[in-house]
Amino acid sequence: MNIVLMGPPGAGKGTQADLIKANYPIPHISTGDMFREAVKNETELGLKAKSFMDEGKLVPDEVTIGIVKERLAQPDCAEGFMLDGFPRTTLQAEALDQVLSDLNKKIESVINIFVPREVLLQRILGRVTCNYCKTVYNLRFLKDQQTCAKCGGELGFRSDDRGEIAKTRLEVYLEQTLPLLQYYQERHVLNSIDGNREADEVFADIKELLEKIK
Ligand code: AMP
Repeated sequence: MNIVLMGPPGAGKGTQADLIKANYPIPHISTGDMFREAVKNETELGLKAKSFMDEGKLVPDEVTIGIVKERLAQPDCAEGFMLDGFPRTTLQAEALDQVLSDLNKKIESVINIFVPREVLLQRILGRVTCNYCKTVYNLRFLKDQQTCAKCGGELGFRSDDRGEIAKTRLEVYLEQTLPLLQYYQERHVLNSIDGNREADEVFADIKELLEKIK
Protein backbone atom coordinates (compact mmCIF):
# COMPACT_ATOMS: atom_id res chain seq x y z
CA MET A 1 0.00 0.00 0.00
CA ASN A 2 1.88 3.06 -1.25
CA ILE A 3 0.07 6.23 -0.31
CA VAL A 4 0.59 9.99 -0.06
CA LEU A 5 -1.25 12.18 2.45
CA MET A 6 -1.71 15.71 1.17
CA GLY A 7 -3.36 18.82 2.50
CA PRO A 8 -2.50 22.33 3.71
CA PRO A 9 -0.97 22.92 7.15
CA GLY A 10 -3.75 22.44 9.69
CA ALA A 11 -5.80 20.05 7.53
CA GLY A 12 -5.32 17.26 10.07
CA LYS A 13 -2.71 15.19 8.22
CA GLY A 14 -0.87 14.33 11.44
CA THR A 15 -4.02 13.12 13.19
CA GLN A 16 -5.08 11.05 10.19
CA ALA A 17 -1.55 9.67 9.82
CA ASP A 18 -1.75 8.42 13.44
CA LEU A 19 -5.09 6.72 12.72
CA ILE A 20 -3.75 5.14 9.54
CA LYS A 21 -0.65 3.89 11.41
CA ALA A 22 -2.85 2.36 14.11
CA ASN A 23 -4.86 0.43 11.50
CA TYR A 24 -2.33 -0.44 8.80
CA PRO A 25 1.22 -1.70 9.38
CA ILE A 26 3.06 0.69 7.09
CA PRO A 27 5.81 3.16 7.98
CA HIS A 28 4.83 6.80 8.32
CA ILE A 29 7.32 9.00 6.46
CA SER A 30 6.84 12.63 7.47
CA THR A 31 9.46 14.96 6.03
CA GLY A 32 8.41 17.64 8.54
CA ASP A 33 9.09 15.22 11.46
CA MET A 34 12.40 14.17 9.88
CA PHE A 35 13.49 17.79 9.56
CA ARG A 36 12.34 18.69 13.10
CA GLU A 37 14.28 15.72 14.51
CA ALA A 38 17.37 16.76 12.54
CA VAL A 39 17.09 20.36 13.80
CA LYS A 40 16.69 19.13 17.39
CA ASN A 41 19.78 16.92 17.07
CA GLU A 42 21.72 19.69 15.28
CA THR A 43 22.77 17.36 12.46
CA GLU A 44 24.10 18.59 9.12
CA LEU A 45 20.62 18.11 7.63
CA GLY A 46 19.11 20.07 10.52
CA LEU A 47 21.50 22.95 9.94
CA LYS A 48 20.54 23.02 6.25
CA ALA A 49 16.80 22.93 6.97
CA LYS A 50 16.48 25.22 9.99
CA SER A 51 16.50 28.67 8.37
CA PHE A 52 13.85 27.66 5.80
CA MET A 53 11.64 26.08 8.45
CA ASP A 54 11.96 29.09 10.75
CA GLU A 55 10.57 31.28 7.97
CA GLY A 56 7.80 28.86 6.99
CA LYS A 57 9.45 28.27 3.60
CA LEU A 58 10.22 25.01 1.85
CA VAL A 59 13.57 23.31 2.34
CA PRO A 60 15.27 23.12 -1.09
CA ASP A 61 14.08 20.27 -3.31
CA GLU A 62 17.47 18.56 -3.66
CA VAL A 63 17.82 18.23 0.13
CA THR A 64 14.27 16.98 0.63
CA ILE A 65 14.30 14.57 -2.30
CA GLY A 66 17.60 13.11 -1.05
CA ILE A 67 16.26 12.18 2.39
CA VAL A 68 13.04 10.68 1.00
CA LYS A 69 14.94 8.64 -1.57
CA GLU A 70 17.13 7.18 1.17
CA ARG A 71 14.14 6.46 3.41
CA LEU A 72 12.09 4.72 0.70
CA ALA A 73 14.96 2.34 0.01
CA GLN A 74 14.81 1.01 3.61
CA PRO A 75 13.51 -2.56 3.97
CA ASP A 76 10.49 -1.56 6.08
CA CYS A 77 9.02 0.21 3.02
CA ALA A 78 8.92 -3.04 1.02
CA GLU A 79 5.22 -3.70 1.74
CA GLY A 80 4.13 -0.10 1.53
CA PHE A 81 4.52 3.35 3.06
CA MET A 82 2.63 6.50 3.86
CA LEU A 83 4.27 9.75 2.76
CA ASP A 84 3.12 12.78 4.74
CA GLY A 85 4.19 16.28 3.73
CA PHE A 86 6.02 15.02 0.64
CA PRO A 87 5.84 15.77 -2.25
CA ARG A 88 5.19 19.50 -1.92
CA THR A 89 6.43 20.72 -5.33
CA THR A 90 6.04 19.42 -8.86
CA LEU A 91 9.78 18.72 -8.98
CA GLN A 92 9.47 16.57 -5.85
CA ALA A 93 6.51 14.68 -7.36
CA GLU A 94 8.46 13.97 -10.54
CA ALA A 95 11.50 12.87 -8.54
CA LEU A 96 9.27 10.62 -6.43
CA ASP A 97 7.85 8.94 -9.54
CA GLN A 98 11.40 8.31 -10.74
CA VAL A 99 12.61 6.93 -7.39
CA LEU A 100 9.60 4.63 -7.17
CA SER A 101 9.90 3.47 -10.75
CA ASP A 102 13.56 2.53 -10.03
CA LEU A 103 12.26 0.46 -7.09
CA ASN A 104 9.52 -1.06 -9.26
CA LYS A 105 6.79 0.68 -7.31
CA LYS A 106 4.20 3.41 -7.79
CA ILE A 107 1.85 5.61 -5.79
CA GLU A 108 -1.52 3.88 -5.47
CA SER A 109 -3.50 6.62 -3.78
CA VAL A 110 -3.05 10.30 -2.97
CA ILE A 111 -5.37 11.32 -0.16
CA ASN A 112 -5.98 15.04 -0.27
CA ILE A 113 -7.60 16.46 2.89
CA PHE A 114 -9.26 19.81 2.20
CA VAL A 115 -10.41 22.36 4.77
CA PRO A 116 -11.56 26.02 4.34
CA ARG A 117 -8.75 28.56 4.74
CA GLU A 118 -10.25 30.37 7.78
CA VAL A 119 -10.57 27.06 9.65
CA LEU A 120 -6.96 26.22 8.81
CA LEU A 121 -5.57 29.35 10.46
CA GLN A 122 -7.69 28.81 13.59
CA ARG A 123 -6.45 25.26 13.81
CA ILE A 124 -2.77 26.09 13.26
CA LEU A 125 -2.73 28.93 15.78
CA GLY A 126 -4.34 26.68 18.44
CA ARG A 127 -2.22 23.62 17.71
CA VAL A 128 -0.32 22.03 20.59
CA THR A 129 1.89 18.97 20.06
CA CYS A 130 3.30 16.39 22.44
CA ASN A 131 7.06 16.96 22.42
CA TYR A 132 7.58 13.22 22.85
CA CYS A 133 5.03 11.17 20.82
CA LYS A 134 3.96 14.06 18.52
CA THR A 135 0.21 13.64 19.15
CA VAL A 136 -1.56 16.83 18.11
CA TYR A 137 -4.15 18.63 20.27
CA ASN A 138 -6.03 21.91 19.91
CA LEU A 139 -6.06 24.50 22.71
CA ARG A 140 -9.84 24.82 22.38
CA PHE A 141 -10.33 21.23 23.53
CA LEU A 142 -7.45 20.86 25.99
CA LYS A 143 -9.19 22.54 28.97
CA ASP A 144 -6.92 21.95 32.03
CA GLN A 145 -4.88 19.18 30.48
CA GLN A 146 -1.17 20.02 30.81
CA THR A 147 0.45 16.84 29.47
CA CYS A 148 -0.14 14.36 26.65
CA ALA A 149 -3.14 12.09 27.30
CA LYS A 150 -1.41 9.25 25.43
CA CYS A 151 2.11 9.22 26.88
CA GLY A 152 2.21 11.89 29.60
CA GLY A 153 4.79 13.87 27.57
CA GLU A 154 5.22 17.62 27.76
CA LEU A 155 3.03 19.67 25.37
CA GLY A 156 4.36 22.58 23.33
CA PHE A 157 3.69 24.87 20.38
CA ARG A 158 5.52 24.37 17.11
CA SER A 159 7.69 27.42 16.51
CA ASP A 160 6.45 27.66 12.91
CA ASP A 161 2.78 27.75 13.99
CA ARG A 162 3.09 31.41 15.13
CA GLY A 163 1.15 34.21 13.31
CA GLU A 164 3.06 35.45 10.26
CA ILE A 165 4.98 32.20 9.79
CA ALA A 166 1.75 30.22 9.79
CA LYS A 167 0.38 32.56 7.10
CA THR A 168 3.54 32.15 5.02
CA ARG A 169 3.20 28.36 5.24
CA LEU A 170 -0.36 28.58 3.95
CA GLU A 171 0.72 30.85 1.09
CA VAL A 172 3.61 28.55 0.21
CA TYR A 173 1.12 25.66 0.13
CA LEU A 174 -1.26 27.52 -2.19
CA GLU A 175 1.54 28.57 -4.55
CA GLN A 176 3.77 25.53 -4.65
CA THR A 177 1.80 22.49 -3.48
CA LEU A 178 -1.76 23.07 -4.69
CA PRO A 179 -0.73 22.57 -8.37
CA LEU A 180 0.20 18.99 -7.44
CA LEU A 181 -3.47 18.10 -7.13
CA GLN A 182 -3.77 18.44 -10.89
CA TYR A 183 -0.59 16.39 -11.34
CA TYR A 184 -2.15 13.49 -9.43
CA GLN A 185 -5.61 14.02 -10.91
CA GLU A 186 -4.10 13.49 -14.36
CA ARG A 187 -2.54 10.26 -13.09
CA HIS A 188 -5.93 9.07 -11.75
CA VAL A 189 -4.76 8.53 -8.17
CA LEU A 190 -6.22 11.62 -6.48
CA ASN A 191 -8.88 11.17 -3.78
CA SER A 192 -10.15 14.30 -2.04
CA ILE A 193 -11.66 14.07 1.42
CA ASP A 194 -13.53 16.78 3.39
CA GLY A 195 -11.34 17.41 6.45
CA ASN A 196 -13.70 19.89 8.10
CA ARG A 197 -15.33 17.20 10.24
CA GLU A 198 -14.54 15.17 13.34
CA ALA A 199 -11.33 13.16 12.96
CA ASP A 200 -13.11 9.80 13.13
CA GLU A 201 -15.54 10.79 10.35
CA VAL A 202 -12.62 11.85 8.13
CA PHE A 203 -10.84 8.60 8.93
CA ALA A 204 -13.92 6.51 8.06
CA ASP A 205 -13.72 7.87 4.50
CA ILE A 206 -9.96 7.31 4.33
CA LYS A 207 -10.39 3.75 5.56
CA GLU A 208 -12.94 3.05 2.86
CA LEU A 209 -10.39 4.13 0.26
CA LEU A 210 -7.54 2.17 1.79
CA GLU A 211 -9.55 -1.04 2.04
CA LYS A 212 -9.80 -0.99 -1.76
CA ILE A 213 -6.04 -0.92 -2.31
CA LYS A 214 -4.95 -3.03 0.70
P1 AMP B 1 5.28 19.98 8.12
O1 AMP B 1 5.42 19.39 9.47
O2 AMP B 1 4.96 18.96 7.07
O3 AMP B 1 4.32 21.13 8.09
O4 AMP B 1 6.71 20.58 7.71
C1 AMP B 1 7.37 21.57 8.49
C2 AMP B 1 8.40 22.30 7.65
O5 AMP B 1 9.39 21.37 7.16
C3 AMP B 1 7.86 22.96 6.38
O6 AMP B 1 7.32 24.25 6.63
C4 AMP B 1 9.13 23.03 5.53
O7 AMP B 1 10.00 24.06 5.96
C5 AMP B 1 9.81 21.70 5.85
N1 AMP B 1 9.33 20.63 4.93
C6 AMP B 1 8.60 19.52 5.26
N2 AMP B 1 8.35 18.78 4.17
C7 AMP B 1 8.91 19.42 3.13
C8 AMP B 1 8.97 19.17 1.72
N3 AMP B 1 8.39 18.10 1.17
N4 AMP B 1 9.66 20.05 0.94
C9 AMP B 1 10.26 21.12 1.49
N5 AMP B 1 10.22 21.45 2.79
C10 AMP B 1 9.55 20.60 3.61
